[in-house]
Amino acid sequence: MSESIGGSGTGMKLHTKILLGLVTGATLGILANSTLGGADPLVEGINKYVAGPIGQIFLRMLFMVVVPLVFASISLGVAGLGDLRRVGRVGAKAIGYFLITTVLAAALGLVIVNIVKPGKTIPADVRTHLLETFAKDANSKVEAAATQNFGVETVVNIVPRNPIKAMVDLDLLAIIFFAFMFGAALTMIPIERARPMIDVLDTLNDVVIKIVEFAMKIAPFGVTALIFGVTSRFGFALLKPLGSYVAVVMISLILHAFITNSLILRFLIGVSPVQFFSRIRTSIITAFSTSSSSASLPTNLAVIEQNVGVPASIAGFVLPIGSTMCMNGTALFEGITVLFLAQVFGINLDIGQQIAVIVMSVLTAVGAAGVPGGSIPLLVGVLAMFGVPPEGIAIILGVDRILDMSRTTVNVIGDLCATTWVAKSEGLWTAASIPAMAGIVDTFGPVDESPGNYPMGSGRIDQL
Ligand code: ASP
Repeated sequence: MSESIGGSGTGMKLHTKILLGLVTGATLGILANSTLGGADPLVEGINKYVAGPIGQIFLRMLFMVVVPLVFASISLGVAGLGDLRRVGRVGAKAIGYFLITTVLAAALGLVIVNIVKPGKTIPADVRTHLLETFAKDANSKVEAAATQNFGVETVVNIVPRNPIKAMVDLDLLAIIFFAFMFGAALTMIPIERARPMIDVLDTLNDVVIKIVEFAMKIAPFGVTALIFGVTSRFGFALLKPLGSYVAVVMISLILHAFITNSLILRFLIGVSPVQFFSRIRTSIITAFSTSSSSASLPTNLAVIEQNVGVPASIAGFVLPIGSTMCMNGTALFEGITVLFLAQVFGINLDIGQQIAVIVMSVLTAVGAAGVPGGSIPLLVGVLAMFGVPPEGIAIILGVDRILDMSRTTVNVIGDLCATTWVAKSEGLWTAASIPAMAGIVDTFGPVDESPGNYPMGSGRIDQL
């Protein structure tokens, strides 16, 4: 079994190694900072010739896959949905639910991060220094972010004049638009003609995820190097905001999972939230322990059919699409992270830009693969888009595993609520359909996390 992104291999788990990397890098950095001082020639030399390049190589490995990843996953997703015409209404309802709840989640995260402002607690001089260090063209980036206006031109620019140029410029919105068009067009040509392209895209998707795995293999070193770079220059100043950031993400995730979803369950779906959560607890545990929506899919299918009583015809259609498209927790996490890092770097994003952050978080969450760390490469792209130095990702990567486990759980709860709501709205389910006794699915066996076993692209035409 090959190692999944952030998953288990032989020996120490990758996420443990990344955490160790964080601790090692932070300890060495703080030591260097407190004994020699951040401007010491030795510390500067290490940063310039060792830590800097290692960190950069790691970051570039992530950047490298953003374009093919967005293109393949979104066009494939849309191509899969093409068969919506066959199941039109159900599909449209599902997508509507996915998008609305994901926007709600991202907006909730943004409100909380604006109230708590975890990134603002660092002293102004440290912030200035951070900007100088991490963004060589910091000022121009800050200015660009400040002057960016999201008017008519922004809308027009979503349609790329030249998709290759959009890719070269890492213009995410334009790439997403092109991928949407590409996927939609694929569904409108005869299936025999479309299939080879779908196969190519499917393979491209798998290959790209493999590359992210390679990147994650060097993540422990990348994180050590990047975090050393930060702490050797800034000492303790950054660690406190990091703690508040983790708290903000966790609290927002919990609020969305249990308050927003409970309201939906009670008023839209008509079921007791306590009963629902109790019936889906195996899915919750599976999602939390695998950090992967896709790896949780088989468990979710069994749970929703046997423990909640949703008919297989709906579950088998809505859940696979949901596991790749409906990522409430991921969008919430992305929005908070962009805002947090913008605060850390002293970049002010006005209300218009924050709405754009929500839009990008939702779109990239739709495009993220349902595997551990699936959203990280996209997040790097979004950071760059808003003028936030992508190097900042180092600040959060070391704590990402627990956030990943938690946001995946929220993603999966969203998938299950969506499926139940669609079934209810089709007149195929009511609270009375819940079987008196939970079915077999009260425990779960080991989940094979190897990428070959992800039901990836499960929303594809041939599998609908
Ligand atoms: N691990 C998440 C999932 O599978 C994706 C992510 O946000 O990285 O749902």
